[in-house]
Amino acid sequence: MDLNYTPEQEAFRAEVRQFLDDNLPDDIRERVQKRLRHDKDMTQRWQKILYEKGWGASTWPEEFGGPGWNPIEQIIFEEECALAGAPRQLDFGLRMVAPVIMTFGNDEQKKRFLPGILSGEDWWCQGYSEPGSGSDLASLRCSAKREGDHYIVNGQKTWTTLGQHADWIFCLVRTSNEGKPQQGISFLLIDMNDPGIDVKPIIMLDGEHEINEVYFDNVKVPAENLIGEENQAGPTPSFCWAMSAPVWRTSGSGKR
Ligand SMILES: Cc1cc2nc3c(=O)[nH]c(=O)nc-3n(C[C@H](O)[C@H](O)[C@H](O)COP(=O)(O)OP(=O)(O)OC[C@H]3O[C@@H](n4cnc5c(N)ncnc54)[C@H](O)[C@@H]3O)c2cc1C
Repeated sequence: MDLNYTPEQEAFRAEVRQFLDDNLPDDIRERVQKRLRHDKDMTQRWQKILYEKGWGASTWPEEFGGPGWNPIEQIIFEEECALAGAPRQLDFGLRMVAPVIMTFGNDEQKKRFLPGILSGEDWWCQGYSEPGSGSDLASLRCSAKREGDHYIVNGQKTWTTLGQHADWIFCLVRTSNEGKPQQGISFLLIDMNDPGIDVKPIIMLDGEHEINEVYFDNVKVPAENLIGEENQAGPTPSFCWAMSAPVWRTSGSGKR
């Protein structure tokens, strides 16, 4: 078996490297190289540059605006980004909620949510953990009660990374108490500007504000924001598959 890169793959690597040389802004590269905390502005600016090139989501298929790269090309891209000192793209939208929307969302939801994730315009955060509900998510209590064409959401999420910047949060919520605790969980997209949402900072040991508590007090969420079927977002094999879409961590060493 020949494990070397093919000439086409080497040419692709050279193209990515040249693009990064020409387009990665110096101030962003410097921040990454100095290992300073990434901020919203640099993350969104870099996402916009990649998006305009058509490289906004290295793992997405072409039908949703991705470059349609194969796994080797995806790895080459991620390697070159890390070597060049590019900032990590925001996983919550691109690599966590997007594959779920692609797999379980209807056409309307795909059209509505995927473009803002790809361009970086919409900032997403993840609302799974709760006080008392971490690894064992089946114990989650944040509830969403159906009333007509809305859900009324009450409860709390915690450890919400970068939730202070978010336009949207994807949440696991309890829609039923019937049956096993693993049943009765649904996947709901919630606009962070909805009335009744309160975001409170958790200040970490290093004094930084990266994580938050998010409170929901009678938040009215349109039922059309439910992804997939009600009560079916528990640990089913197909749901777990979509949730575990490849996440390539690139902290960006800035060293070639
Ligand atoms: C910096 C930071 C950012 C985070 N960001 C987010 C976020 O954006 N959104 C979000 O939803 N969550 C977030 N989390 C929460 C994170 O995903 C949880 O910490 C995680 O789910 C674990 O839950 P826990 O901390 O309550 O630990 P616990 O569930 O209490 O687990 C404690 C320990 O027990 C072990 N354990 C638990 N159950 C078992 C078992 N059955 N068998 C054997 N061992 C077990 C675990 O492996 C762990 O070592 C964040 C956490 C941190 C620290």
